[in-house]
Amino acid sequence: MTTAHLSPSTLDPKAATFDHTLESGLGFTRVLRKGEIFRIVDLEGNQAVDTLFYSADDPTERYSAVDTIREQGNLYLTTGTRLISTEGRVLLTIVADTCGRHDTLGGACAAESNQVRYAIEKKHMHSCRDTFLLTLARDCHHLGKRDITANINFFMNVPVTPEGGLTFEDGVSGPGRYVELRAEMDVRVLISNCPQLNNPCNGYDPTPVRLLVWEASA
Ligand SMILES: [Zn+2]
Repeated sequence: MTTAHLSPSTLDPKAATFDHTLESGLGFTRVLRKGEIFRIVDLEGNQAVDTLFYSADDPTERYSAVDTIREQGNLYLTTGTRLISTEGRVLLTIVADTCGRHDTLGGACAAESNQVRYAIEKKHMHSCRDTFLLTLARDCHHLGKRDITANINFFMNVPVTPEGGLTFEDGVSGPGRYVELRAEMDVRVLISNCPQLNNPCNGYDPTPVRLLVWEASA
């Protein structure tokens, strides 16, 4: 791959107002207020963090992979990427990134894709789609199955071949790498910290991530 432009953050984790470690296989949802900074840290490296964003006021407005790709003229997400909603508005901006590339083409693993990609008997293994649904059922009752749309896979490497093919590769991330986003409106974040044991993207070894939030700077 071409060398990515890495841009570290100056924020101090000690000043964060929220600091939580999310084990692999678990889900997370929270509302980020406009101006808040949200960081996801790939603690052990090569993890895939399946993530969706919604307008907190009207969750029928949500992250749009196609609009985001078209607006920036690039398939990969990194510093400077504006995450565009289905209404064409900016939900969040990536303001720091020490990994350099994030995927929004590969989608989330599901019982169905576990069978198609790997083996029939993989159906009952954990999947991100199940984690998304369980997390919403537990913490956010007004969202459900119909709201699980094309997601972001932070730290995941899905390079596109010159012929336009998708390939799942070993991760580009490493221990301690992170991505940081600024909320440009009040948004709900929904995460499945991928439990997948069959995909080389995470080195067949799902690991925890750290989630931090800083208040909006005055
Ligand atoms: Zn997954």
